[in-house]
Amino acid sequence: MIPMTLTEIASVTGGRLDAVPDPDSKVTAPAAIDSRLVQPGGLFAALPGEHVDGHDYAAQAVAAGAAAVMTTRPVGVPAVIVDDVTAAMGRLASAVAARLTDTTAIALTGSSGKTSTKDLLLQVLQHDAPTVATDRSFNNEIGLPLTVLRAEPTTRYLVLEMGARHAGHIAYLTRLVPPHIGLVLNVGTAHIGEFGGRHAIAAAKGELVEALPSTADGGLAILNADDDLVAAMHTRTKAVVATFGRAPHADVRATDVHLDHGRARFTLTTPLGSALVTLQVLGEHQVSNALAAAAVAHGVGMAPTAIADALSNAQPLSSGRLEVLERPDGVVIINDAFNANIDSMTAGLRSLVSIADSRRAIAVLGEMRELGDDTTTAHAEVGRLAAALGIDLLIAVGTTAAAILAESARETRPDLPIEVVPDRHTAYDILHGLLKSGDTVLIKASHALHLDELAIQLAKEA
Ligand code: ATP
Repeated sequence: MIPMTLTEIASVTGGRLDAVPDPDSKVTAPAAIDSRLVQPGGLFAALPGEHVDGHDYAAQAVAAGAAAVMTTRPVGVPAVIVDDVTAAMGRLASAVAARLTDTTAIALTGSSGKTSTKDLLLQVLQHDAPTVATDRSFNNEIGLPLTVLRAEPTTRYLVLEMGARHAGHIAYLTRLVPPHIGLVLNVGTAHIGEFGGRHAIAAAKGELVEALPSTADGGLAILNADDDLVAAMHTRTKAVVATFGRAPHADVRATDVHLDHGRARFTLTTPLGSALVTLQVLGEHQVSNALAAAAVAHGVGMAPTAIADALSNAQPLSSGRLEVLERPDGVVIINDAFNANIDSMTAGLRSLVSIADSRRAIAVLGEMRELGDDTTTAHAEVGRLAAALGIDLLIAVGTTAAAILAESARETRPDLPIEVVPDRHTAYDILHGLLKSGDTVLIKASHALHLDELAIQLAKEA
């Protein structure tokens, strides 16, 4: 945290102080929205939650060492009182970012792979200089301020994951903290139901490159050469454009890609030369994410060998995304239950087959939510792919959409054993007792199905 007095915080947020004995006392540690995560000298932001109101935890936060709380009403402890805590946290983030004069702000967005790429990028840039990146998937209007407030005066790179929930969302986030570098990963089908089509999603993601400084002011847009709608965004920016991808014309690209038990090996080529990368993170889709991270690293001046070394040592940091849990009895559970759309289902299924190799591959696929009109076609496509990839057992979890997925798998491969079950408990009943050494089980669905609990339950059992 860049230390700020309570008076300064009130001034930049448009708030007023209440029950503050010393207005010159400083906030010296990052902010928290969960009173249990408050750090001594930090700021506690009281948000209204679904089940609880942060205001009820203000006293607890101060008892845990918070220098002050940010609230919409007096709560009897030192507070900066504002009209809207989320908006005020945004204004505070803007003020802090403006003081980070030696820091390069890098924003990234995309339909799939934001968190995976951000985790790779953090580990690559850290090799070069102190880096702060979004924690987990805290990629919205409250996550962004929490990230910015973690920056120190020595922070050289600030990596900001940005999710787009609606048109204008990314434009808002970039107004809070104007990025120097903008990375767009892909335009897929995630949240397509809310947006109404890929072109509408592209319009929203492209707000990132529109927000970048001009070439003369050092702006850099990094676009995926393999994604038509992302590549087309070059017309929407005043920044220098660099591309990444498998396409031969990409500035940063991968050749000789091989997959060994789910882990990719490839030659990384940047305009400064080539180097061999062997990823630790799983899945062929990570090649694209690694190239994206490499393109940013190249953009800030890192050499290809340094980038390749850092990528080859990078570990998975966020759980629930193709997380491999190996049981003592030799059963491998792949927990990919954090979210699901066609692109990530495809990535998950391909990884399953590669990791399982010649062993039994079992796919437990729950419904994909938030797909709107595409629900039927998307589930049919995933069912076809699962069957075509040669898995050994399919368990579809859910109701109508799960039945569509199972039906298209059955049409593609009538001999494939398939079960359709209503929930994770029934899936567990089938898998319990069936699994034996060497089996590899992919568990994937939209988060709402809570299949991560099935993964954890199965992983514990042996
Ligand atoms: P969210 O918006 O829900 O936070 P995200 O964009 O941050 O998602 P990740 O959390 O990195 O994406 O990855 C989620 C899943 O998407 C992974 O488990 C993997 O199956 C898949 N995935 C990751 N990267 C890619 C990619 N480049 N292309 C397709 N699928 C991907």
